[in-house]
Amino acid sequence: MPGRGADQGPGRGRPARPRRRAEVGPWDGEADVVVVGYGVAGASAAAEAAAHGADVLVLEHTGGWGGAAAMAGGFIYLGGGTALQRACGFTDTPEAMHAYLSAAMGAGADADKLALYAERSVEHFDWLVDCGVPFRAAFFDRPGWEPDADQGLMYSGGENAHPFAELVPPAPRGHLPRMADKRTGERGGGWMLMRPLVATAEARGVRVRYDTRFEALVVEPDGRVGGVVARHYGAEIAVRARRAVVLATGSFAYDPAMVARHVPLLVGRPGAAVEQHDGQGLRAAQAVGADVAHLHACEAALLADPGLMARGIVVDALGRRVINEDTYPGRIGHALLSHHGSQGFVLADEEAVDAARADAGPLAFLIPPRPTWVGDDVDQLERESGIPCGALAATLALYNRHAERGEDPVHHKAARWVRPLRAPWGLFDVRGHTAGFPLGGLRTDVDGAVLDVDSAPIPGLRAAGRVAAGLSAGGYASGISLGEGGFFGRRAGRAAARDGAG
Ligand SMILES: Cc1cc2nc3c(=O)[nH]c(=O)nc-3n(C[C@H](O)[C@H](O)[C@H](O)COP(=O)(O)OP(=O)(O)OC[C@H]3O[C@@H](n4cnc5c(N)ncnc54)[C@H](O)[C@@H]3O)c2cc1C
Repeated sequence: MPGRGADQGPGRGRPARPRRRAEVGPWDGEADVVVVGYGVAGASAAAEAAAHGADVLVLEHTGGWGGAAAMAGGFIYLGGGTALQRACGFTDTPEAMHAYLSAAMGAGADADKLALYAERSVEHFDWLVDCGVPFRAAFFDRPGWEPDADQGLMYSGGENAHPFAELVPPAPRGHLPRMADKRTGERGGGWMLMRPLVATAEARGVRVRYDTRFEALVVEPDGRVGGVVARHYGAEIAVRARRAVVLATGSFAYDPAMVARHVPLLVGRPGAAVEQHDGQGLRAAQAVGADVAHLHACEAALLADPGLMARGIVVDALGRRVINEDTYPGRIGHALLSHHGSQGFVLADEEAVDAARADAGPLAFLIPPRPTWVGDDVDQLERESGIPCGALAATLALYNRHAERGEDPVHHKAARWVRPLRAPWGLFDVRGHTAGFPLGGLRTDVDGAVLDVDSAPIPGLRAAGRVAAGLSAGGYASGISLGEGGFFGRRAGRAAARDGAG
């Protein structure tokens, strides 16, 4: 994935100024509901709007469906006692899920969205299954970014690690669609999610216009959003939305200027998104008065093997441990990025490296292939890595002192992962190994109504997926994006089908 520059310029987007109805010519097409973007939020919105009686047209920039969702690993964050959780032998409740989300999504997270998402998560899982999304009832019980094969359930948010495990009974909530053959790298979990969603939408009569890039909203004389202006092979077209427009265009990960302004932690880092996530949908809605929320929030993945980190220690450039290393690796990445300039190292011994390699199996490529520096002498590792002399030694001595008793009173790593680290040590340089994407966006209500700066819904305009602010106010768990994109996308589609209808 290409890195993003620190460009503060005007960005990649085209002008997002709204058009007055009188400024656009005759409509080139129309539908009750016009959905912009055919990823997870767009497909879910389209399918539900059609199921509720609307004539639906999707406009998609690229030549095919799927967006970032089809490239994704496929985690869908769901819980509260789904059939898959129960089949794998786990008990979960909406209350436990709500307590976890409230603790993990960050201060200021949208309370209404958290509550509804936890309460109706089981129903959303059932809907996905009804659409044909396949899940295999098998649990993957190791630290990792993804399961090694087609297991359907995994911890994906640090629920079983400090601090969450002490707050609420842990349950795994990372649901993964079954992959046809994970090792080929094709038909991954995200693709296996998207294919049935798109088939469902199209079986319900949803029409799609590909190679059509949305640019701006059309505003009727009464202030209602009545359509969109888009570009199709260079020609401008105008499409009327009789009831509502649903924006589902993804994040602003690939607009360098917006990243620099709103989430500068991600400047210069690879974006876990697709290049169509250029912020045009967000800016076009802002241009008609939309409010925004949590624009600073971001997912931040540390590209290092979670099994290795859990067995070793992660330290910053001053040799200080950063967090409990058995937690969700996205939390490790976020802690390093937010508080330590993404300057991290993993210290492990031979036993830890061998066990991590054996655990990782086909995903072993995720481990940096070998330690950057190896030795029996911590002083030398410090000199080679640039960590101040004595700093790593002091951290290691403190860690080992408590690890002799299987304890970690400093960062509370679970006893399962705590053991004194013995020479020879390997020090892995993971400085700058962080990728991510923004999580903030348009302020919406639970039905996707885009709210203006006075908190009033903008008539005729809804939004879902990464173009909108969702569950996160800074925290994250793998699967939140695909989960809330589908969940709130459906709600936006249903509400859009009712908008302005008799
Ligand atoms: C490699 C990778 C792995 C990931 N793994 C996971 C995971 O396991 N779990 C998880 O929850 N998330 C994951 N994510 C993130 C997740 O895929 C996205 O956050 C999610 O797809 C966002 O949903 P969305 O509907 O908002 O955007 P998308 O699914 O990207 O859909 C947006 C669509 O809008 C289209 N579009 C954009 N601009 C315009 C325009 N101007 N006009 C018309 N169309 C437009 C795009 O082409 C795209 O098709 C991953 C991402 C990547 C890249």
